[in-house]
Amino acid sequence: MLNFAGLLTANPFEDTMPQLAQRVGRAKPSAIMLIAEKAKQLKAAGRDVISFSIGVPNFLPGEHVYAAARESLSHDSGQYGSNRGAEGLLDAFLRHIEALGLTGYGRMNLSIGIGAKQVLYNLAEAMLDEGDEICFAAPFWTTYRDIADIVGAKANILHCGPDQNYKLVPAQLEAALKRKPKVFLFNNPSNPTGMVYTREEIAALADVLVKYPDTWIITDDIYNSMVFDGIGYHNFVHVRPELKDRLVFVDSLSKTYGMPGWRVGFIAGPESVAKAVTTLNSNHITSIPEVITAAAVAALTGPQDVPQAKCAEFAAKRDTVMAALNAIPGVVCPRPQGAFYAFPDISCAFGKRHGEHTITDDVSFCAALLEAKGVACVPGSAFGEPRAMRISYTCPTAQLQPGLDRISQFFAELT
Ligand code: PMP
Repeated sequence: MLNFAGLLTANPFEDTMPQLAQRVGRAKPSAIMLIAEKAKQLKAAGRDVISFSIGVPNFLPGEHVYAAARESLSHDSGQYGSNRGAEGLLDAFLRHIEALGLTGYGRMNLSIGIGAKQVLYNLAEAMLDEGDEICFAAPFWTTYRDIADIVGAKANILHCGPDQNYKLVPAQLEAALKRKPKVFLFNNPSNPTGMVYTREEIAALADVLVKYPDTWIITDDIYNSMVFDGIGYHNFVHVRPELKDRLVFVDSLSKTYGMPGWRVGFIAGPESVAKAVTTLNSNHITSIPEVITAAAVAALTGPQDVPQAKCAEFAAKRDTVMAALNAIPGVVCPRPQGAFYAFPDISCAFGKRHGEHTITDDVSFCAALLEAKGVACVPGSAFGEPRAMRISYTCPTAQLQPGLDRISQFFAELT
């Protein structure tokens, strides 16, 4: 029988149409989208789906943030703002980073962006020419690879498996830096693993970094307010202040203040980098709106009870997640100490069956788990680690234990 399906979707004019740039073609379809799409279909069919897949905080900022936004709206100038960020916002950010132990910066060391994501794209454009090398550890936040692809840089991915708690070790970093990459991109606490580097681990990596002056260092530390167990947030410049000349700290309001949709990100770094990002802003975005600026200042300078309470809540949820995962024979999960993710190694399930599903890898595992139990997790291959899956535990507390119970049952039913 003839198959007309392809004919119906094929575009007969494709060959004669103008072509898109190659950089667009390089963006790969994501495993996250595959699971999200499947979850959507199941929900539409009336299934009860518990989502551990989305990495967004499920809380709102304090009322003072909304009050500041409303007040700003009532006298909004409607004009373009500063490419670098309004002075009041830069000053608020300076105070915020001083509290993190990042001192000695002034307004000229800062610039803003539409979330940390746009800030990171700006940094990539500012630092990387086509063919330059950028290195970062895997598991990595998915966008890192996309950013490298889009600017045409070569990514040297440093694999850090569960056996090393998903953390980069000095010997690996040294081997990578010997290749003289243009950029080393570091993420602490980590999305997707939730791992946090101790002061000693940061110091050991910093000892390597000081030996390789040709490489820019970007620390994407947007989860810095979500660190548990009293281990604290540490940056390379805390232990090696001389790295300040080539280190760029990236932060965002998204996770700390429950403001992902408000789109505010920052950098603090050398003046030359802040100037380059500001110049790119003048070409890409011009500025961020006055209302958003007012809300951001209120979040940064107002009461910090929401972020503090959320950090405590996430620490308690982490305990619940770990208790469940540790009780599953064969599953190994390095204990996360920050953000709101756990990243268990689920490879013990590969080669097994669940009902009519054969589990060959992380993607077929997550698809079968979703179909059989209505629990959505993200396959680890999206983050460069195909032995694992990401559990994002930002769901309402009432859903957490039932979702974990379903994962445990799923493992118990494997044959
Ligand atoms: N870095 C990491 C590690 C992230 O997880 C995210 C968001 N998921 C971002 C940057 C981007 O955050 P923003 O919302 O500020 O663009």
